[in-house]
Amino acid sequence: MESQLDGVPAFRARQIFTWLHKHAVGSFRHMHNLPQDLIKLLEEVYQQVWPLELVTTRVSTDGTEKYLFALSDGGAVETVLLPEEDRQTLCISTQVGCAMNCSFCATGRSGYERNLTAGEIVAQVLYVQHRLRAEGKTLSNIVYMGMGEPLANYEAVLKSARLLNHPLGLNLGARRLTISTCGLAPQIRDLAEEDLQINLAVSLHAVEDGYRSEIMPINKRYPLGELLAACDYYTQRTNRRISYEYALISGFNDHPQHAEELGKLLQGRLCHVNLIPINPVGKEERPTAQRIAAFAQVLERMRIPVSIRKERGTDIEAACGQLRQRSLEGWS
Ligand code: SAH
Repeated sequence: MESQLDGVPAFRARQIFTWLHKHAVGSFRHMHNLPQDLIKLLEEVYQQVWPLELVTTRVSTDGTEKYLFALSDGGAVETVLLPEEDRQTLCISTQVGCAMNCSFCATGRSGYERNLTAGEIVAQVLYVQHRLRAEGKTLSNIVYMGMGEPLANYEAVLKSARLLNHPLGLNLGARRLTISTCGLAPQIRDLAEEDLQINLAVSLHAVEDGYRSEIMPINKRYPLGELLAACDYYTQRTNRRISYEYALISGFNDHPQHAEELGKLLQGRLCHVNLIPINPVGKEERPTAQRIAAFAQVLERMRIPVSIRKERGTDIEAACGQLRQRSLEGWS
């Protein structure tokens, strides 16, 4: 099909790229400096600018916006916008479903279907950017923390990061992008060697191998020693502070003793701890606010930089994979 575009001069590619990635236009008709016959041809070949369609959106009372997108093969992914005064952060998906099977995660429960293409990853960003533009706003940060394990879809994720980073496109600095992983140690090392300044977030959640393996099967393949060695290599190569995510589950990993062990593990490392009060999808329970604060205090005393993630969008099923789960169960 692409061969239909063979005779089109090369400079048009640059124009089209700019319309798509910088201006985030929603249709070929808005590419004003293209000749009409080229617009027609693009419509014939590609039909639409984004390889996904909006199924539904939900807006939380706190401003969080959740988008459920349908892909051309019928798959569905979620994207979440977290608006703040000084920044607009978009949380994007990288796979349909997820194979990592973390026990507390809604996405893992529905199994793994496939990797997203780089185009499908970037389209989530462009779709929301298109909407924000209309309000005079623009996306400032992208977090790869939606459905899927980004480092299990390494090539497409890296390609998408380079597209978002492109000077002719959104031109988002690599430091505004954060890739979150459950701990694929070899790919963390690969990422370290890309010489990009991307932020890395590592979902730790437990600091002892037996414990961690209980909730995160990936730990059996890459135990903590191997994971942290890969993280150290990442810091050494990039000089970037790694963010360690720690989901607090009542009665499992929220004891002050766990905080102390976490502190000991991270002491001397260039790091930041992000405490996430668990968003229960199974029988887990969220610790009390007091318990969460006590956990943070232990880390503060040990001089480990720590923050508690603000809960957002709980009224719209904003936790990873929840909205899609509902839609698979017949909600729409
Ligand atoms: N696969 C990647 C990115 C997607 S999950 C990863 O594991 O990092 C994004 C973050 O949300 C991870 O830290 C994940 O452990 C966390 N998470 C998943 N389900 C959650 C839940 N129910 N409550 C709180 N955090 C959750």
